[in-house]
Amino acid sequence: AIDFKWIRDNKHLVAVNIENRNSAANLELVLGLYEQYCSLQQQDEGKLEPSVRQDLIDEGKSLKDVISTLEQDLLILTDKLQIEAQIIPNITHPDAPIGGEENSIVRKMVGKPREFEFTAKDHLQLGKKLDLFDFDSAAEVSGAKFYYLKNEAVLLEMALINWAISEVSKKRFIPLITPEIVRSSVVEKCGFQPQGKNTQVYSIEDSDQCLIGTAEIPVGGIHMDSILPDSALPLKYVAYSHCFRTEAGAAGSATRGLYRVHQFSKVEMFILCRPEQSDFFHEELIAIEEDLFASLGLHFKTLDMATGDLGAPAYRKFDVEAWMPGLERYGEISSASNCTDFQSRRLGIRYRPTPFDTSASNPKKGKGRSSPTRFVHTLNATACAVPRLLICLLENFQEEDGSVVIPEPLRPYMGGLKVITPK
Ligand code: AMP
Repeated sequence: AIDFKWIRDNKHLVAVNIENRNSAANLELVLGLYEQYCSLQQQDEGKLEPSVRQDLIDEGKSLKDVISTLEQDLLILTDKLQIEAQIIPNITHPDAPIGGEENSIVRKMVGKPREFEFTAKDHLQLGKKLDLFDFDSAAEVSGAKFYYLKNEAVLLEMALINWAISEVSKKRFIPLITPEIVRSSVVEKCGFQPQGKNTQVYSIEDSDQCLIGTAEIPVGGIHMDSILPDSALPLKYVAYSHCFRTEAGAAGSATRGLYRVHQFSKVEMFILCRPEQSDFFHEELIAIEEDLFASLGLHFKTLDMATGDLGAPAYRKFDVEAWMPGLERYGEISSASNCTDFQSRRLGIRYRPTPFDTSASNPKKGKGRSSPTRFVHTLNATACAVPRLLICLLENFQEEDGSVVIPEPLRPYMGGLKVITPK
């Protein structure tokens, strides 16, 4: 349910947005296809008019043939139009900074970089000393950018997941564990490209299914093709899943160790809400993230991301970047996006607003009338992406002898363990 009429009527705005977002979308092509589509559809609808039917019969044409050709053409055109239109990005929040990554604005800064009285190690050196990872065997068994977690790293991953799920579910988010294989059509409707040269998505051969890159996809899909009652909103989920990413074209920057891997665990928040509330819930999501990371004692900043760095579905995106001593720079640890109605239009998730009750002043109004449905807004945000948090915890909380202090909030989930020490 992409709103082509709106795109056509707001052509200039859409074109500027495509430019600002550095998007590959081809607006002229989409509008051309849409025009063809409208004209074919008119002809197709015309088939029902008796006068047109009579004309065709008089011309000696088979009505059935004409209609079936028309309908086939229409199907082909619809497919083409959908493929091209999928790439058009969401519109952008008026306050989002325009430009590339360097134009992103710092919204908040928490803590400051730790000053070490000794030479700090990176997470690979620490992992070696503490016997926490096995990248070599993983490279043999699976390939590059895979890893085994070992010993306390296993407890730490499970603690992070348990801690994130229980903290977020205290705020009335419904906990979920999702399927990790989904239909390609759902991936597409969430605004990701399951095919193509630079796809981040692993497809399963001889099937119409993919591995998920994020729990956002199966959670988004739960309510597809449905009309939610007004009273169900906002609907909040916190979902745990593995994530699989090809990381095509990501060679070069910070690819060592756990920073950019093909498979990782993540706890993701997802909200479906009324359109007028999505800015508010975007703020709630980023506040939850900030609370979580501050309670671990991390030093980080929150950024309002510039247009060039927004994924197609996002209307606005806030990233958190934490200090990573091994990299000697900030690294992204989480991301919170307001996708407005971009995903809900494609997934077909609507709600029916409660009609304004005017029955007291006018007994005829508001009674027995059902109001028109509207698309919900969807938002997603990372509560805990395990590998980058492991990097932060190991590198920031290391001691001179290579031991690592576990932050207080995680200890109850690790049988009270306070420090990981070299064996
Ligand atoms: P995204 O869904 O792309 O916004 O990513 C959410 C979070 O997952 C990021 O902020 C990172 O912390 C983490 N992440 C994304 N891609 C990878 C990867 N290839 N390896 C490890 N962590 C990742």
